Amino acid sequence: MTAPEEKVCLITGCSSGLGIGLAVELGRRGHIVIATMRDLEKQAALRSALETAGVEASIAALDVQDGHGIESLVNRMIDEHERIDVLVNNAGVGFLLATEDATEEHIQTVLDINVMGVMRTTKSVIPHMRRARRGHVVNISSLAGLVGQPFNEIYCASKFAVEGYTEAMASYMTPAFGICFTSVLSGRIDTEFGANATRLVEGAEQIEREDYRPVREKYLAGAARRSRPESGIVQSAAEVATIVSDCIEHRSPPIRLITSAWAEAMCRIKTEADPTGRRMQQAVIDVFLEGGEVQ
Ligand code: NAP
Repeated sequence: MTAPEEKVCLITGCSSGLGIGLAVELGRRGHIVIATMRDLEKQAALRSALETAGVEASIAALDVQDGHGIESLVNRMIDEHERIDVLVNNAGVGFLLATEDATEEHIQTVLDINVMGVMRTTKSVIPHMRRARRGHVVNISSLAGLVGQPFNEIYCASKFAVEGYTEAMASYMTPAFGICFTSVLSGRIDTEFGANATRLVEGAEQIEREDYRPVREKYLAGAARRSRPESGIVQSAAEVATIVSDCIEHRSPPIRLITSAWAEAMCRIKTEADPTGRRMQQAVIDVFLEGGEVQ
């Protein structure tokens, strides 16, 4: 078996959690990793994880809300490496608040980071991948991208958007230019995600609406149960990073990658006819590009 070729990988959101796991795992496999974060003052955790693993990676600033910053980093990467093989859109924020309690600013922030952030970085790398006639954009979506969940409607809306974007891009970028698209769906990963989501609404008026109390208590009790290690639901960032890295090294990566048996079971009602998204991709190509009939 030949060793997988060395890929130039750009990863967003590497100050914590899955981003760190991905930088370490892809670096450990010998790929050239550019691990980015919006605030370089937070690089200690990444540095220490890289050092412990004995892995090299370049660390750079990148805020997915800053289009000019993205463009200039991508240009610097092209100057230095002449190509970008893999973009991992990992940066994201959670949001757990009922719609009537969310401010417009909250909603815009979640959509700007989770949706616009994915599109900004993708828009910047696509011309280079198109010219190279190859590349892979990996969007870290979520089970929340396929399954609407209580009090997560704004987060779910953002991840559903990532799913639609991924599916649409895969329908023509892959056959026309050899650029693959994958969305990654995980259930629960053991990271700072929950704490960071709480921080996003810090300072906002917390309204204790009696009406919501029973349904909220039921939801929170279930969430606490699912978070316990003995539930078998929670994955480590390292485990998810390994699954995503295997997919990055795959010659023909799936459009949809579900990272756990629990997440798979949770979305089976929607995915069982087409677990990897390839059937849908082919159907869209047949009908929208080849003039075929809907089967
Ligand atoms: P995390 O530890 O909170 O990491 C999120 C990362 O995104 C942090 O590095 C954060 O940086 C970064 N980020 C946020 N806004 C950014 C911006 N404007 N520009 C650049 N980076 C930004 O959570 P995680 O679990 O590793 O999340 C990684 C991805 O997995 C997210 O897309 C999330 O939606 C998805 N996911 C997570 C879970 C889960 O249960 N944890 C499940 C399914 C999917 P700062 O440190 O600067 O905030």
